Amino acid sequence: MPPPYYTEPNEDNINNEIHFYIVIKKVKKVYHCPYCWAKNKIKIEGDYKIIRYHPPDFQVEQYNLPLVFWDIKFPEDIREFSSRCNKCGRDIHVELWPYSIGDKRNSKNVNYYLKLGLGKTNKIDHEFFLESILTRFCKSLRVNYVIGSFFFMLTLALIWIIPLTITGGLSRVINDYGFLVIFIMSFLMLILLKRHSDILRKYLDCRNLPILLHENYLKSNWCTTLEEMSFKGNVLGHPYSLIKAPTFCGLVAVLFYILWRITIFINTNNFDAFLELTTTYYSFHISFISFLFGIPFWTMLLLIIGNVIWLFLATASLTGLIGRFMPLNINVIKELGGVEIFGKILLSSSYPMATIGVCLPIMLVVGLGFGTLVFLLGLFLIFLFMLMMGIGFFYPLIPIHKKIKKIKENEMEKISNRLDVAYSKIKEDYRKIPEKELLSNHLLISYYNRILNLSEWPFKINTLIKIFSAIIIPLLSFFLNFIFFSGF
Ligand SMILES: [Zn+2]
Repeated sequence: MPPPYYTEPNEDNINNEIHFYIVIKKVKKVYHCPYCWAKNKIKIEGDYKIIRYHPPDFQVEQYNLPLVFWDIKFPEDIREFSSRCNKCGRDIHVELWPYSIGDKRNSKNVNYYLKLGLGKTNKIDHEFFLESILTRFCKSLRVNYVIGSFFFMLTLALIWIIPLTITGGLSRVINDYGFLVIFIMSFLMLILLKRHSDILRKYLDCRNLPILLHENYLKSNWCTTLEEMSFKGNVLGHPYSLIKAPTFCGLVAVLFYILWRITIFINTNNFDAFLELTTTYYSFHISFISFLFGIPFWTMLLLIIGNVIWLFLATASLTGLIGRFMPLNINVIKELGGVEIFGKILLSSSYPMATIGVCLPIMLVVGLGFGTLVFLLGLFLIFLFMLMMGIGFFYPLIPIHKKIKKIKENEMEKISNRLDVAYSKIKEDYRKIPEKELLSNHLLISYYNRILNLSEWPFKINTLIKIFSAIIIPLLSFFLNFIFFSGF
C-alpha cells in the first residue's frame, strides 16, 4: 500500500497549474522479536507514531467471519504486516500506527487498546453481564456465589410459581418433573459457568500458558495487550465493549427462542400456542398470567444457555488457534509435556454444556411431543449435540498433539543416535568404556524410556473418562426422558 501522502505526477496534474509531489523519506523502525528478543529493523515510508509487535495475529479475522462484535475496529490507515525474525526465523505480526494515543482520529476502542499496550491503563474488566448481575445479587444478600445463584434462580422461578399457584396451577408445578430438572440444571449451569470463566481468567495468561515467549516480551505491556485482547478478550469479551461477546450470544439465544415462538404462532395461527398454553405434550402455562410471569425465568434460562454455548465455542476455537499458531513450550521430561492446561481448560468448558444436554431432551419432548418421528429427530439432534461436544474437546487439541508427537520423536531420535554409538562401543569391548560414559548411557536409557512413555495428548486417562461421561450425559437424559414421559 503506498503511503497516503504520496502523489504520482501524471498528465492531468502536470497540465494543471499546481501539483504536489511529496516524497516522504524512508524511516527505520526497530522492533523486538517476541520469542528471542532479537532486534529487527524495517525501513518504511511515512510518519508512524507507534509500532507494535506480537506473535502472529491469530484472531478471527483470519477466517473472515463477519463477527463484528469480536473485533476491535482499527483505523484504515494502520499498516499491518507479517515479518520474520532474522535470528530465530519465526513469524511476527507488526503494526504501524499513524496516530498516538488520544488522537481524535482513533476510535475509542483503539485508544483503549493503545493505552493498554503502552501501560497507560489498568482498567481491565472481563466480567460479563450475567456475572455482574449475579455478583450484585450475591452482594446484596451477603451470601457466596453458590447460594446466591440458587436464590437468584429461585426468585425468578417464584415470580412464575406464585401467580400460577394463586390462579390454581399448583398441581401443575408439583407434577412437572421436567421443570424441576431444568430448574436444578439452570442453577448448576450458573455455577459451572462461573467456574469456567474463573479458570479462563486465571489461565489465559502468557505466564500460565506453556507458550515460548521471551522474558522481556512477557514483562512488556504489549504482552498485556496480547493477553487481554487476543486471549481473554476473545472468549470473555473485550474489556472496552459495552455488550460483551458472551452476553451477545445469550441475547441471540433469547432472540432465537422468540422467533421460534413466532413461527409456531404463524404456522398454527393460534395465539394460545404462541403463549405455550397448549403444546403437543401438555399445556405449558395455564393462563396468560402464568405466561407473563414466566418470562423472567425462561428468558434467563435462554440467556444462560447462550452464554454457556459462547464460552464453549470460544474456548475451543482459542485453544485450537493457540495450539496451531504459537510455539509451545513442550517439555518431554514433564508429565504430559507440561501442556495439560489445554486439556483442563477444554474439559471445564464441556461441563456447562453437559447441563444443557440434560435439559435438551426435556425441551424437545415438551416442544414437540413424543412419537416415533420426534424420537428419531430427537436422537439425531442429541447426536449432533454430542458430536459438537466431542469435536469441541478433541479438535482443538490436534495441533498440540502433533507438536508433542514431533518433539517426542525428535528427542527420541537424538537419544537413540547416541545410544547407537554407545551400543557399537559395547559390542567392541565394553571393558574399555570409561565408567563415566557407562553412567551417562544409563541416564540416556532412562530418559529414553521416560520420553517413550510420554502421552502424545495433553490429558490424563481420568480427564478422558470425565469428557466421555460429559458427552454421554445428553444421550442418557434423552432415553430417561422418553421412558418417563411415555409412562405418563
Ligand atoms: Zn526471533
